[in-house]
Amino acid sequence: MRRITILGATGSIGQSTIDLIARNPDAYVIEALTGGHSVETLARDAIRLNAKCAVTAHADRLQDLRAALSGTGIAAAAGPAALIEAADRPADWVMSAIVGAAGLAPGLAALKRGATLALANKESLVCAGPLVMAEAARSGARLLPVDSEHSAVFQALLGEKMESVERVILTASGGAFRDWPLADLARATPEQAATHPNWSMGQRITVDSASMFNKALEVIEAHEYFGISPDRIEVLVHPESLVHALVGHVDGAILAHLGAPDMRHAIGYALHWPDRCDLPVARLDLAEIATLNFRRPEMARYPALEIAQRVMQRGGLSGAVMNAAKEVALDAFLDRRIGFTDMVPLVSRVLDRLDRDSGALDAEWCLEHVLAADQMARSYASEALGAAAGAEQKAGIS
Ligand code: NAD
Ligand code: MG
Repeated sequence: MRRITILGATGSIGQSTIDLIARNPDAYVIEALTGGHSVETLARDAIRLNAKCAVTAHADRLQDLRAALSGTGIAAAAGPAALIEAADRPADWVMSAIVGAAGLAPGLAALKRGATLALANKESLVCAGPLVMAEAARSGARLLPVDSEHSAVFQALLGEKMESVERVILTASGGAFRDWPLADLARATPEQAATHPNWSMGQRITVDSASMFNKALEVIEAHEYFGISPDRIEVLVHPESLVHALVGHVDGAILAHLGAPDMRHAIGYALHWPDRCDLPVARLDLAEIATLNFRRPEMARYPALEIAQRVMQRGGLSGAVMNAAKEVALDAFLDRRIGFTDMVPLVSRVLDRLDRDSGALDAEWCLEHVLAADQMARSYASEALGAAAGAEQKAGIS
């Protein structure tokens, strides 16, 4: 029996992982499930899958989690340290599906003890790629990509030599505002940004798809995971979201990975790797689909892609800075404190400020330094937001 832990079990990826596991419950022992505020969902799934323990990220939700699990014998815990303890439990396969930089420390804990880490949390590689890859190499842990594009590249590379790879092409749906007039983007609301044309995902990644910050993170993720230089990673807008990625070789061949836009493919691939198993995903009828469209992303619509290039050129801890500033900018947009088109300039300003601080960005790779860069970027971003709000207020009074 395989022992499994799901970090971020109550989210979109976590629930899809549970969907696959629940179809064959006798094959798995569930060591731990973790979640956030929705302890009802967490407790329900922990009971359904007979998990050994359930952990909420929030100490103020522990009492409710305990109440929901009372009499079941399932252990309950809360807080960041408990999340790391959950990752430390002896599972062979750990799904890393917490959203944001909060996923880094628990994922690293699983890698440290040599577990296979199915990585949906792209922020781990964006913030700390060299650290994560070095930890996996040191412990012999297997790191399997779950982001659909990276799973697609991983599959397209099977049996190939990296030396023959000329370029990697990541596709992007273009998000909610793909066909909007550019002039309207400044007025886009969080509700409008949170509707995705093809994929059903968590709210944050859906808004990041509209801004292309998601693709910006994924370009960095591909650079860190596959070791491909930034100039050989391309992005193509592909409105149908059926081709997930393409790998171009030196002989001119391009290998593409196609499939329905359903994350259970990439999750199931990582769950059963190196085998392929029957998965409950729709089969494509290409004759019915008939046409696939591709176009280059317009930089005026998706300036976040330029930020990815900047981060890869700068290196060091700039990925952690970009991600943290992006998380603050996204919160501000979701709270209607800034507009949709204000997010990229805010991230850019924080990068400008920290670019000059080589002490912070070029610090040695360790978790503490990554978290320090993350904190510094968050406080600079909040400061910039506060200054902008103050200036706006003043302008309103005068
Ligand atoms: P989600 O918002 O639906 O779920 C996030 C999970 O993380 C929840 O269980 C939540 O409780 C937990 N969480 C949130 N904040 C936390 C914190 N501070 N500490 C601990 N736990 C916390 O997100 P999602 O869409 O499932 O995405 C999860 C990760 O997978 C993200 O990194 C995302 O970029 C990546 N990903 C998602 C998809 C998708 O289709 N949803 C596709 C590719 C990659
Ligand atoms: Mg993706």
